Amino acid sequence: MTHDRIHMSLADITEIEENAVLDAMRSGWVAPLGPNVDRFEAELAARNDRAHCVVLSSGTAALHLGLLCLGIGAGQRVVTSSLTFAATANAVNYTGAQPVFVDSDESGSINPDLVAEAIASEKRAGHDVSCLLPVDLLGKVVDQEALAHIAEEQGIPVLADAAESLGARRHGLPSGKFGVAAAISFNGNKIMTTSGGGALLTDDKALADRARYLATQARQPVIWYEHVDIGYNYRLSNVLAGLGLAQLSRLDAMIERRRMIRGLYRELFADVPGVKLFGQPDESADATTRDNFWLTSILVDPAEAGWASADLMNHLAGQSIESRPIWKPMHLQPVFADAPRYVDGTSERLFNTGLSLPSGSSLTESQLDRVMESIRTFIQERVR
Ligand SMILES: *Cc1c(COP(=O)(O)O)cnc(C)c1O
Repeated sequence: MTHDRIHMSLADITEIEENAVLDAMRSGWVAPLGPNVDRFEAELAARNDRAHCVVLSSGTAALHLGLLCLGIGAGQRVVTSSLTFAATANAVNYTGAQPVFVDSDESGSINPDLVAEAIASEKRAGHDVSCLLPVDLLGKVVDQEALAHIAEEQGIPVLADAAESLGARRHGLPSGKFGVAAAISFNGNKIMTTSGGGALLTDDKALADRARYLATQARQPVIWYEHVDIGYNYRLSNVLAGLGLAQLSRLDAMIERRRMIRGLYRELFADVPGVKLFGQPDESADATTRDNFWLTSILVDPAEAGWASADLMNHLAGQSIESRPIWKPMHLQPVFADAPRYVDGTSERLFNTGLSLPSGSSLTESQLDRVMESIRTFIQERVR
């Protein structure tokens, strides 16, 4: 029996999005500026309770420009989460600065105690840390209060990597509200998409202006092309901003559907020994703090479960169902072998025991049935 492949998180595109793109094309604004860009920026700023938003060609570009606008460059150090997607660390390297990798706590978020230790230890070695770059892993906002406290003490800024957490909240504040600036992503697999895109959110007008300037080739405001800085071509097109507006209008519905899907997994794994849901295990606990249910992941203790996350992954792969380990920590990546690290084994264990499951809001009922049935069969075979 052959099956259509089921993916973890595919773009959720409806007629609303199709019409938005068509309207943008027909309006004649097929360029990296236009009314959709302005509206998308205004709506994203409002949604995240920010004064300014600059939409960009990717979340990586948003991180890169955020760092540049904070004055980060060669010879400086940026403390960031080891448990993240490579884009976070890559953006630090683009500026010429050195990422310093810090381990997670059990929730997957950067461990504030290790952050403090990293800063102190780097200082003793003669290196000042210039910026904190925490990551909202799988849509869950990190302990921003603890990090803000450390950053304040040190007199350094926080740039929030909120690429995965659009729509999530912490103590009533949207994920994009934290830090001097926050970067979000609209890549194809994220909670909402512009096919590719991102945004930088801030309350600092000078920072937003600088980001917009650097994103448009650092062109001086004169009629000829005059340049006094190295610039980038990082702006988002008006067509894609139209797609983004359509997605944003459906964001709450898409989050709600992902929440429903997490509920199915919660039920399915409720009585399975050795399996824990990762991230928001109980969304009723505190309504003001909620992740965006981007990817539902489980942690499997093989000693207790009698099977490992890789066994389930292979079983699902055999039925054309995609699942994947949680991010491989940056301090274990060959490309960052020489980077300083402050680790205690937690993120490595999360990588070894964690598995992200199909979670996309575009999954149909019959696809969800297939996923749940396949996992049920797997568990029953193990329990026998
Ligand atoms: C997706 C992602 C990025 C990069 O965003 P792009 O839009 O793909 O460039 C950065 N950081 C994290 C944590 C991400 O998940």
